[in-house]
Amino acid sequence: MPERNIDLLIIGAGPAGLTAAQYGARGNLNVLVVEKLAPGGQALLIDVLENFPGNVRRNDPQGNEISAPRTGYELIQDMYDQAETFGADFLTEEVSRLEKAGDLFVAVLADGSKCIAPAVILATGAEHRRLGIPGETEFIGRGVSFCAVCDGSFFKGKKMFVIGGGDAACDEAQYLSHLSSQIVLVHRRDRFRAQKALADRVMRNQNIDIRFNTVIKEIKGTQKVSSVIIETEGAAHEEAADAVFISVGMIPRSSLVSGADENGSDLKADIDENRYIITDQKMASSVPGLFAAGDVRSGSFRQVIVAAGEGAVAAYNAAAFLDELRGTAYK
Ligand code: NAP
Repeated sequence: MPERNIDLLIIGAGPAGLTAAQYGARGNLNVLVVEKLAPGGQALLIDVLENFPGNVRRNDPQGNEISAPRTGYELIQDMYDQAETFGADFLTEEVSRLEKAGDLFVAVLADGSKCIAPAVILATGAEHRRLGIPGETEFIGRGVSFCAVCDGSFFKGKKMFVIGGGDAACDEAQYLSHLSSQIVLVHRRDRFRAQKALADRVMRNQNIDIRFNTVIKEIKGTQKVSSVIIETEGAAHEEAADAVFISVGMIPRSSLVSGADENGSDLKADIDENRYIITDQKMASSVPGLFAAGDVRSGSFRQVIVAAGEGAVAAYNAAAFLDELRGTAYK
């Protein structure tokens, strides 16, 4: 099985990984990005990425659209091409295990081959916990969303459901309440898990209709979401809906470095109580040479622009780390 020796291994090709690849390659590092799926991560789900700086919609004086903001897919494609143009290599494969031997990290891929590098950036992101109900997956991008800031404005004035009872669900409902007076916040218990201040703000908000002890059983529609089957204390009914924002927690993909990997990775970086990787301002984890950027990082604001920024910071500091390691740092 082949062994690839590189300067910088980046695991994950979402906005954080792609930006890190571009900065690393442009900084003359030998960079390999390993991603198990197509590049893009969650950003691919964003229909119109209208909050990315500079990604502007232009209309002529009559109000006709001259140019539309790029979609998540288009932006990712450009980020990928840019990283490749500067010399980053890409490999579609899953990293099964990550270990450290002396100064070197050894990533064992699913095909049994190895990548060996003195610096690694983990940009594996986090996944939204799913409800597992009918209609949830089918209507993603057509009324089902996991991000109010990304997609809320498509449903201005419409009836939107938010599912969950934590800080994120309350934040999402609060955000959406500026766009519509018909927000329904659905939580399975009789009170919120969210911090009191956030929960109180939501409870006082006239635009938010709170339904405790309630669950969504199904999301229905044809081309897009049109209704939900909703059940309160055992009694179910169908109710019109234009959008459903699911906010029932995130699962960071940190198992490679949190000692929790089923394949037996024993690398243990410091993680927070929700298993996100703790870094300093340089995006450096507690393991020398291991950096984290984007949604897998503790405290990251889950936005494409933030992930990209953190990727740049991580690559810059990975390069500085390599200079120190090799004794080539500019003193
Ligand atoms: P969270 O705190 O884990 O809350 C998830 C919520 O979803 C819980 O209310 C949970 O219900 C509910 N839930 C989970 N699975 C469900 C299911 N299958 N069906 C229905 N409901 C389900 O997650 P989060 O709100 O995403 O927050 C994650 C972390 O980020 C937290 O540490 C939070 O403090 C932090 N955060 C902070 C802010 C802020 O400070 N403004 C904003 C966002 C996130 P139960 O309560 O019944 O378990």
